[in-house]
Amino acid sequence: MSLPSVARVVIIGGGVVGVSALYHLAKAGWTECVLLEKNELTAGSTWHAAGNCPNFAASYGVMNMQRYGLALYRGLAAEVDYPINYHVTGAIRLAHTHERMMEFDRVRGMAAHMGLTMEMCTPDELRQHFPFMETHDLEGGLWDPLDGDIDPSQVTQALAKGARAHGGTIARFTPATGVSRENGEWIVHTGKGDIRCEIVVNAAGYYAARVGEWFLPHGGRRVPLTVMSHQYFLTEAIPEVAAWTREHGRKLPMLRDVDSSYYLRQDTHSLNLGPYERNCQAAWVSADAPMPEDFSFQLYPDDLDRLEWYIMDAMERVPLLGTQGVQRNINGPIPYTPDGLPMLGPMPGVANAFEAHSFTFGIAQGGGAGKVLSEWIMHGHTEWDMWSVDPRRYTDYTDPQYCLGKALETYGHEYAMHFPHHEWPAERDRKLSPNHERLIADGARMGAYNGWERANWFARDGDDTSQAASRTWNRNGPWEPRVRDEVEAVRDGVGVIDMCGFSRFALSGAGAAEWLRGIIAGGLPKIGRMNLIYLADSRGRVLTEMSCMRHGEDSFTLMTAALAQWHDFEVLSRRLPEGLSLTDRTAETTTLLVTGPKARDLLAGLGEADLSLGWLTHQQTTVAGRPALMARVSFAGELGWEVHVAPQDAAAVYAAIRDAGATPFGMYALNSLRIEKGYLTWKGDLSTDYTLLETGLGRFLRLDKPQDFPGKAALQAEAEAGSTRRMVTLVVEPGEQDAPYMAAVFANGERAGEVTSAAYGYRVGAAIAIAMLDVRACVPGTEVEVEVYGQRLQAIVQESAALWDPENIRIRA
Ligand SMILES: Cc1cc2nc3c(=O)[nH]c(=O)nc-3n(C[C@H](O)[C@H](O)[C@H](O)COP(=O)(O)OP(=O)(O)OC[C@H]3O[C@@H](n4cnc5c(N)ncnc54)[C@H](O)[C@@H]3O)c2cc1C
Repeated sequence: MSLPSVARVVIIGGGVVGVSALYHLAKAGWTECVLLEKNELTAGSTWHAAGNCPNFAASYGVMNMQRYGLALYRGLAAEVDYPINYHVTGAIRLAHTHERMMEFDRVRGMAAHMGLTMEMCTPDELRQHFPFMETHDLEGGLWDPLDGDIDPSQVTQALAKGARAHGGTIARFTPATGVSRENGEWIVHTGKGDIRCEIVVNAAGYYAARVGEWFLPHGGRRVPLTVMSHQYFLTEAIPEVAAWTREHGRKLPMLRDVDSSYYLRQDTHSLNLGPYERNCQAAWVSADAPMPEDFSFQLYPDDLDRLEWYIMDAMERVPLLGTQGVQRNINGPIPYTPDGLPMLGPMPGVANAFEAHSFTFGIAQGGGAGKVLSEWIMHGHTEWDMWSVDPRRYTDYTDPQYCLGKALETYGHEYAMHFPHHEWPAERDRKLSPNHERLIADGARMGAYNGWERANWFARDGDDTSQAASRTWNRNGPWEPRVRDEVEAVRDGVGVIDMCGFSRFALSGAGAAEWLRGIIAGGLPKIGRMNLIYLADSRGRVLTEMSCMRHGEDSFTLMTAALAQWHDFEVLSRRLPEGLSLTDRTAETTTLLVTGPKARDLLAGLGEADLSLGWLTHQQTTVAGRPALMARVSFAGELGWEVHVAPQDAAAVYAAIRDAGATPFGMYALNSLRIEKGYLTWKGDLSTDYTLLETGLGRFLRLDKPQDFPGKAALQAEAEAGSTRRMVTLVVEPGEQDAPYMAAVFANGERAGEVTSAAYGYRVGAAIAIAMLDVRACVPGTEVEVEVYGQRLQAIVQESAALWDPENIRIRA
């Protein structure tokens, strides 16, 4: 086959993920797409994978991707007429603790919300599923009937067959060797000639960092991945397992002992044990042992000693495991990002380039990943919000040391529970506030936000600040009385929070205002004022929210969440016309929020600012003798000012504010304060799962303006037809936990929607949740139920989104 010289999309990498992307593109009619594989398909991680395919995931987006992929696999062999060994055996997960059972109940609830049936099990029920197991020390477990294992090579070949049948092209033994840009197109270089194309995809698996380097001259960044060595071994055939299979006509279900950190599954008549060991090993990290040019179809030497603890533990759980010797060990490369989730979406900094790599569960996720990636490419958006895997979630702080430390931590805790108040300790302190020392001296317990360390809460002498104390799903922990005090200090006096790392962009140039009007859904502030602006995608769904300060006719500061830094910069820069200037100024300024009824009195003593200027104004002034931009807003919903200062002035300004009597408060208190006001958070409540109108942001929309902003037609149609669901505030029976993300809401026993965020409101004395509900359930006073870790809690739909100061009297005071 001769290599095409022109294509619409070139995918680099023929593992399960790249092939699935080609299949989905071709099936959707994008036939001029070429996949390049340097060796034979599956030569990377795919060929040696165990092929386990769970639905279970902690992230709703990832679970959705797996749910879709598994359903695709169940029908794929017939669809493309290619046999696949796919054993839908079901799987049990074991819980050693009550907390683990709560995690399972939360995931069961999420699964049910997307139409999957998982069941909580007693130890006896677990034994009915898997009779060869000790259960005396178990709390219980979780059963997923659709879990199983698939042959990774066969599923890849089946997808390849489907892709070819729909017109996609696969070029095997054709390594890509580099990329260049010419006349607005990519030229992908290969040993067999160049291909000119619109879009390139890096789907190179554990080689993705190497391929990523080609994009550095085009605005790309170093790909944050570490290659880990991952093993599983197969025993010799076990007669009892063979007999059970003969008797029942099927394989044993998969078993995952997640608290001990391994899976165990039947393979023909033997068992396959795969641990995620704490004493794990990264590969190819030192300069004297770099990744080889080509590792196709190769493995690392066996290292069973590393797995010894896990093997012993598994033999106690399933004694049959110890009755036979090891038949074969597989030790292969597996790529890990810092959080263990893949990079799937637009390539940071590079237009017309996408990433689909660093999958640790790529067999389970490959089917869904192909769908998600093809949607990004074809439509510029995805059916489900996929922020949890968006490559732009990591920014410039992910140096090799960070990536390695995080990969070791994440791999060693692959099955760990992610508690809402627990902060993972590895590779912290990447970006520090100028006030860091002072915050620590004040007792700050820090959390990482896009690498920036911010105070979550302030501990006092004697408080339990151990890791162990935060391993709970409960709202109450050592932080709880402190958060309450911090909120009350803001309510009754004045508090200060250091919000280092607020993302901030300067926009200027003749025509900047008109350009902004053309891309945002609402209006712009007058000079000297500020307001929230929203950008939607073509479906009218919420892309992002920014605070917009206007300094002159065509001069703006746009501020957005710390986490949104690269995402939001690209949302703007990809559309920026010639002649306008957009600069990321995040590192040049830091932000303090001074808020509470006594904020004016405090700030009056520190400078000459005009504190009579109204809500949503800003002014250049001085605070404690240092230049400062003061903005009259408060995410805490009290009288307040954001004080924006240069990093070199921040310590002096913060010290002056503290010395004048402001109580330091942290992010937990801020979250409680903001939810009482019905203020929404980005990628919590505001996401591409919902439209601006559904999210209740109609007051920020200008459907009658002449500009044809993205999403206008869709929002106009929705406004005419009426939204079918709407975001509301619920007061929930307090319970011991706050409702987790995507907790289901029921009205009259039927599913009516889901929670997007929740927290306790200390000013109003109520547990609060923000939820997206079917409009029929949105009538104020409607009684609903919220499923919180398996418990149905009563809740009531509120009249107003804001439970605290709904008339805004306090913030306008
Ligand atoms: C021991 C082990 C067990 C595993 N078990 C499971 C499991 O049970 N379930 C599960 O879901 N996942 C499992 N995984 C993970 C799984 O293997 C990977 O997530 C998955 O294979 C990743 O697929 P991919 O397509 O992203 O990458 P890969 O399969 O690595 O494919 C990338 C491809 O890109 C090609 N390539 C690289 N550079 C170039 C270039 N310049 N030009 C052309 N081609 C190039 C490579 O040759 C390779 O074929 C396991 C991994 C290991 C190591």
